[in-house]
Amino acid sequence: MNASSSKLERYERQMLISGWGLKGQKKLKDAKVAVAGVGGLGCPASLYLAAVGIGKIVLIDKGKFKWNNLNRQILCWQRDIGRFKAEVAKEKLEALNSEIEVKTVIAEITKDNAPNLIGDVDVIVDGLDMWKTRFIVNEYCVLHAIPFVHAGVSSMHGQMTTIVPGKGPCLRCIFPKNPPEAEMIPVLGATPALFASLQVMETVKLIIGVGRPLIGRMLFASGEEMVFETVEIKRNIECPVCRSL
Ligand SMILES: [Zn+2]
Repeated sequence: MNASSSKLERYERQMLISGWGLKGQKKLKDAKVAVAGVGGLGCPASLYLAAVGIGKIVLIDKGKFKWNNLNRQILCWQRDIGRFKAEVAKEKLEALNSEIEVKTVIAEITKDNAPNLIGDVDVIVDGLDMWKTRFIVNEYCVLHAIPFVHAGVSSMHGQMTTIVPGKGPCLRCIFPKNPPEAEMIPVLGATPALFASLQVMETVKLIIGVGRPLIGRMLFASGEEMVFETVEIKRNIECPVCRSL
């Protein structure tokens, strides 16, 4: 790593983690992570990805910040209302960490444009709120063998799993049919913040190669009951998306 000791000082506490060190930090610096959707999940996720030192972050979102985003999309401050989410996020992430590169993509991911929009990345973080788009990203990840850290939240609860194509189930194995799309999902800001933190933890584990990722397991967390549990999930041998892997 070509960085002065003062620059490395910001990573001092995390490099003390077992299996991390300078070598692990360099892996993060060399990594490229896409955040699909810069909303309730994508804002805190990208903030922690920047803080941890991911070298290249791609922010994909076609939307602009609105007043009803303020309770959870924490990169949006009042003065940012009406501006493109990805552009606002880029400014703040680069202000937090000037050593990283942040690329913005202001568009909606479709099956046709996914290769151009997402490109070649090491991990994709799910910050989406539409199942339709999640399944497009899932297919892209399976096709290009890219890990996909899925999370979905509602109210005070949510679920997450880490999809590593070929090593565990893909999103289509778990949901043979698209779940219904919700018009406006009720949500407490702390819920996506919780799951975004866990998504970053998974991303970092995958890149550095420490810990045990959430492959083949679904984590359910309920803030209402304050219960966290993981259940085993299996590949569907007839899955139309990943059966050939
Ligand atoms: Zn599958």
